[in-house]
Amino acid sequence: MKITVFGIGYVGLVQAAVMAEVGHDVVCVDVDQGKVDRLKEGHIPIYEPGLTPLVKSNYEAGRVDFTTDAASGIEHGEVIFIAVGTPPDEDGSADLKYVLAVAETIATHMQSHKIIINKSTVPVGTADKVSAKVADTLTKSGKSLTYDVVSNPEFLKEGAAVNDCMRPDRIILGTDSESAEKKLRELYSPFNRNHDKIIVMDIRSAELTKYAANCMLATKISFMNEMSNLAEVFGADIENVRRGIGSDPRIGYQFIYPGCGYGGSCFPKDVQALARSASQAGYTAQILESVEEVNYKQKEKLFSYISRHFSGDLKGKTVALWGLSFKPNTDDMRESSSRVLMEALWEAGASVKAYDPEAMEETQRIYGSRDDLSLMGTKEAALEGADFLVICTEWQAFRAPDFDLIKQKLNYPLLFDGRNLFEPKLMMEYGLHYYAIGRGLSV
Ligand code: NAD
Repeated sequence: MKITVFGIGYVGLVQAAVMAEVGHDVVCVDVDQGKVDRLKEGHIPIYEPGLTPLVKSNYEAGRVDFTTDAASGIEHGEVIFIAVGTPPDEDGSADLKYVLAVAETIATHMQSHKIIINKSTVPVGTADKVSAKVADTLTKSGKSLTYDVVSNPEFLKEGAAVNDCMRPDRIILGTDSESAEKKLRELYSPFNRNHDKIIVMDIRSAELTKYAANCMLATKISFMNEMSNLAEVFGADIENVRRGIGSDPRIGYQFIYPGCGYGGSCFPKDVQALARSASQAGYTAQILESVEEVNYKQKEKLFSYISRHFSGDLKGKTVALWGLSFKPNTDDMRESSSRVLMEALWEAGASVKAYDPEAMEETQRIYGSRDDLSLMGTKEAALEGADFLVICTEWQAFRAPDFDLIKQKLNYPLLFDGRNLFEPKLMMEYGLHYYAIGRGLSV
């Protein structure tokens, strides 16, 4: 099937690559000429396990191509995906300008029936806005053409995106068009062999499903973080509590890890966006507002431990920081807890020696060169001359470090762990003063 994807980001590029892999003929359109040029030269702009060979082999086989030429892209695809960003507006609601710009571009250039699929995460009612934009543009250009607008939200997880797209848990299709449904069932049939994962519903429910999923996951995290704060207040250990509640199958072990807050391009903006659209509709989404508030405070947790430990005197301190990306297996730094921490440390006069397996380039791009940030080649190098160590991201490579070396290198035998990677008793045996989340203020 001939497919066009607008937006070559985490969602668009991965979708395009897996669609090409199963034999579809895919053209990707982006406004970023540099990104398109680099892709054509074989440079993949993001880190995502398994993505590089998939993109390269399908590009070489001619099943996927990259362009900034929207007109040729639109001519190519009978099905056109919109996978552009929907960043937060000033008040936190989703900014639809990129989505609507693509809708207008499609209508400007289309010469035949198109199925327009919205894969971006968008507020309920956006399909109507896309449809209206297409209709309006067609009318202005004197064209009388038919089209379908379908909501097909994406549920991939960064760090496991290729696998998630190859083996989706579910494929949500929001449509009232039987012909569009038939076409999309055909398009997705290579990913729908084990059992029927396609759930067809009305467009508004599909749009809300995506927000509901992300808000539920964010709620689980903020709930556990609230419990971790209560564990500190009451002198309990949140890791015991986590195991205790996870054993109930109605709760389960997944997604109940306490930590230094959630980040990324989705949870923070999607919780905010749903809360804002609720309030615009006259409804106060109390749970969502609390989820956001708890997370905001949780991101300041590590700094508050550090500041308290040093009685607020951090001027001139050097901090070794392991983990910059918002979670492991990605280079994505959007809304990462490490950024909140680094910025607070800098404000307090400390400097940071950081290491991350994949997010160093992105960190450099965001912060540029500054005297109080050194990006180090290894996690051990980050310890050299540092006063203490902080862990922000639970990369596998940080899970079994050489604790003797850590103690030997640091000026203070002091470890702040934002992901509860270690047992406090073991840290005590190694002679490390250990702060974790919800496990007693320090041991
Ligand atoms: P991204 O920022 O990585 O990529 C967006 C791309 O769209 C960029 O390359 C940008 O240059 C391009 N773009 C902007 N305007 C354009 C236009 N007019 N024409 C063509 N290209 C244009 O974004 P992302 O992380 O891939 O997210 C895309 C959407 O998918 C968002 O709505 C997001 O909420 C949603 N989503 C993201 C994830 C995720 O894990 N990243 C998961 C599920 C859903």
